[in-house]
Amino acid sequence: MTNPKGTLLRPMPAPQTASWPVVTPIYPSVVYASETPDTLDAQYEGRLSGYTYSREGHPNADVVSRRVGALEGIEGGTLMGSGMGAVSAVLLGLFPTGSHIIGGNQLYGRSLRMMNEDLPRLGFGVSLVDACDADAVKAAIRPETKAVLIEVVANPTLRIADVDGIAAVCREAGVLLVVDNTFTTPRGLKAFDHGADIVIHSLTKLLGGHSDVMLGWVGAKDPDIAARLDVFSVTAGFVPSPFDCWLAERGLLTFPLRYDAAEANAVALADHLAGLPGVARVIYPGRPDHPDANRAAGLLEGKGGNMLSLELHGGRAAANAFTTAAEGLAFAPTLGDVGTTISHPASSSHRAMTAEAREALGISEGFFRLSVGLEERDALTEVLTRAVKAASAP
Ligand SMILES: *Cc1c(COP(=O)(O)O)cnc(C)c1O
Repeated sequence: MTNPKGTLLRPMPAPQTASWPVVTPIYPSVVYASETPDTLDAQYEGRLSGYTYSREGHPNADVVSRRVGALEGIEGGTLMGSGMGAVSAVLLGLFPTGSHIIGGNQLYGRSLRMMNEDLPRLGFGVSLVDACDADAVKAAIRPETKAVLIEVVANPTLRIADVDGIAAVCREAGVLLVVDNTFTTPRGLKAFDHGADIVIHSLTKLLGGHSDVMLGWVGAKDPDIAARLDVFSVTAGFVPSPFDCWLAERGLLTFPLRYDAAEANAVALADHLAGLPGVARVIYPGRPDHPDANRAAGLLEGKGGNMLSLELHGGRAAANAFTTAAEGLAFAPTLGDVGTTISHPASSSHRAMTAEAREALGISEGFFRLSVGLEERDALTEVLTRAVKAASAP
């Protein structure tokens, strides 16, 4: 591999040096050159490690994938262009037509849509059940059931799934347990240790943490399942961009610090908001008045996370007054950013539901979900106190 004067266009390997960069370089290369057909054979047969075509893998994706795997306590995993890429790989890439999949009835909206719209179109049976109720999962299992997909903390009600109970049901029935651990993150819950066979992440949220990159990750305990997920993602074209991976790697370096700081803010805010006139209720997994307080304490080991929901008295006018007065906090339907974001499910994530269905979940016009960020605590408390006051007298 020589091209000494750089007169030919390629290849021109990087200069040899005795030192190395402390930051992962970005590898935008779509293809990788090999020495000979024999070398290429050895690469494809696994005797030599080497990249070939970047849809099949590239260094920036591998670096991030390994980091997420390490957080979840496994080796490997596959990085995807988005969290939904990871959900799609699991739901579309593993099971034959005629399979039956069970999902939590409060899954992420797009996951629910895939369960309700796409899986039936492809000949899958689907049942949606309350993930707080392991008996309901058990009752829904059929001979052709292949997997149960749950999230640990439901959006936006923040109900806590009976992960251990459902894991026992899955184990007994020989059904795969798939946990979307996006809200909880491995800092809140090590899903594989609680019986998950497959774990999904949207790195777009807390793991990436800066709202500047969309990525997903899927990992499996069983190397055969992991390999099938990997192959399907290559075929389906779920490959992430090297630059996005590079941004996510940078975000991941501070993830534990960001998580702990955001959580500490959320703990303080939850108690503060609960004491304000104008607030009908606060839902936070770390509070004793949470409907699943005991399960949260056990499963999340006292970690309440950064997500909190609150319900204000008053209807849409109060809701409008709240977001207007919450200056400096983005009213935007995402989560896990360094800055606090405010989501209003009735007008965003849950707008397609009938008002009655929303009411059954307790999602009124005054219901907000906060993804608490890293702001200086006094400033955050002050602006939200002002916003609650504004909503009380719109
Ligand atoms: C955002 C999200 C997803 C989808 O991730 P994208 O990166 O937006 O595709 C899946 N599950 C949960 C729980 C999420 O919050």
